[in-house]
Amino acid sequence: MPSAIIIGSGIAGMATALHLRAAGFEVDVFESNDYPGGKLHAFEVNGYRFDAGPSLFTMPQLITELFELFGEQPTDFFQYHRLKSVCNYFWEDGMRFTVDADRDVFAEEAAAKFGIEATAILSYLKNGQKKYELTAPLFIEKSLHKMGTYLSVETLKAMAHLSEMNLGTSLDALNEAAIGEPHLVQLFNRYATYNGSSPYLTPGIMSMIPHLELYLGAYYPNGGMHSITTSLYQLALRQGIRFHFNQKIEQILVEKNKAIGVKAASNQHFADCIVSNMDVFSTYKKLLASQPHPERTLRQERSSSAVIFYWGIRGSFTQLDLHNIFFSSNYQQEFAHLFEHKSLFNDPTVYVNITSKETPGDAPEGCENWFVMINAPGDYGQNWETLVAQARQNIISKLNRLLGTDIAPRIMAEDVLTPPLIEKRTSSYRGALYGAASNSKLAAFLRHPNFSNKIKQLYFCGGSVHPGGGIPLCMHSAKITSKLIISAL
Ligand code: FAD
Repeated sequence: MPSAIIIGSGIAGMATALHLRAAGFEVDVFESNDYPGGKLHAFEVNGYRFDAGPSLFTMPQLITELFELFGEQPTDFFQYHRLKSVCNYFWEDGMRFTVDADRDVFAEEAAAKFGIEATAILSYLKNGQKKYELTAPLFIEKSLHKMGTYLSVETLKAMAHLSEMNLGTSLDALNEAAIGEPHLVQLFNRYATYNGSSPYLTPGIMSMIPHLELYLGAYYPNGGMHSITTSLYQLALRQGIRFHFNQKIEQILVEKNKAIGVKAASNQHFADCIVSNMDVFSTYKKLLASQPHPERTLRQERSSSAVIFYWGIRGSFTQLDLHNIFFSSNYQQEFAHLFEHKSLFNDPTVYVNITSKETPGDAPEGCENWFVMINAPGDYGQNWETLVAQARQNIISKLNRLLGTDIAPRIMAEDVLTPPLIEKRTSSYRGALYGAASNSKLAAFLRHPNFSNKIKQLYFCGGSVHPGGGIPLCMHSAKITSKLIISAL
């Protein structure tokens, strides 16, 4: 039986383990934490449950198909439902808007609210759909680093439509031209943050992202995002995948340009192939220190990070739902602070996620669990204590203004996550949420491949390699990586 070692039990590590197990591999997963899931983790403070990282769930079929690999009925172990409204938006000028999950309803309501033609909005969204459908089979579902990918009908189709992909214009410029109305432009610009980029730098092809949320749908896993981790972990255990927690891998053992095993603090383990789910930068710098590094790839700009306050809040806010956004009044300045000045803007866009709206048991009665996040630059050694203290004040003032109440005395429980803590807990270089940023039109091609060009039997999966970060792309990386391994047998 062929064998595989996976370094890290992030979502892509677990998914790769499951694909390989279904193909008949013996699989061992080594995880430095004492829990599985990496960024997709959860914790409790004073009776409030919080999902630690991801909060938006799209493309649930990429999770459920893992159960089907083993002939299991996904709904026996993992349930979710589609959201009826996707997000509440708040602006400083008093504008409020709730995005309906139905694309046509959204277009009608947005047209009425912002005074533009519904057809312009629908045509924008349908263009995004076209971009997605033309490029996903090529750029997302296959390795970009194998010749076979380019010798296909899909490539020819995508190439024929290259000029419609808006690669030469920024997402913001595209949105200004196609939509124009400032609130709606800001709303559509925000989708750049779904891969940790700036709308003023990322190319217009990213206008495909709203299609995922507004057409394919936004979902909520029953019990919260962490149920993705727990259900996949339980599936892996049922299928005989072995997990080794508190096992920090210190080195990938290489012999004659071939990865043969891994070294933990007190022992070595050997397998036919090694898959790193650890951030690719950290994998090279820490586990492959004596090997040549693909420096150009590793120098790529990193995605944004985040500062998150997990607040147990006394009271119920009927104007809020699961996903809520309080926009900055100067979005361009906010992104200049993140990517140019590597600092926090004093009027940040605040995202408030409240899972107790869906799962009331996540907070004590009459209370809510607020996950309050602002985008942040990566960790470049800034004084995070000072930045976090200022951010806390700025967020509270903004929420006070836009909700018309004093939030501070309602905070009953608190925890904070910062870029250095994200790096400490997951090895994500600079605390990036999504690996490399997509702030250039070539970013998709510059990400590290799912395999090593120099070291045989060494593979990579997860948010820092092709096709990128976020749960759906991580699930695709697991599929691509496991297919490469299986086809090399
Ligand atoms: P990671 O989750 O990065 O896990 C890597 C694992 O490897 C960790 O468990 C780590 O402990 C382990 N490891 C590292 N080094 C070693 C070593 N030497 N030895 C052993 N183990 C090691 N995505 C969405 O789709 N929707 C969202 O709403 C969303 N919001 C986010 C919000 C936040 C705050 C964060 C942090 C991320 C968010 N993301 C979101 C991104 C998403 O969480 C990630 O893209 C995805 O979870 C990354 O998974 P991964 O498989 O790459 O591994």
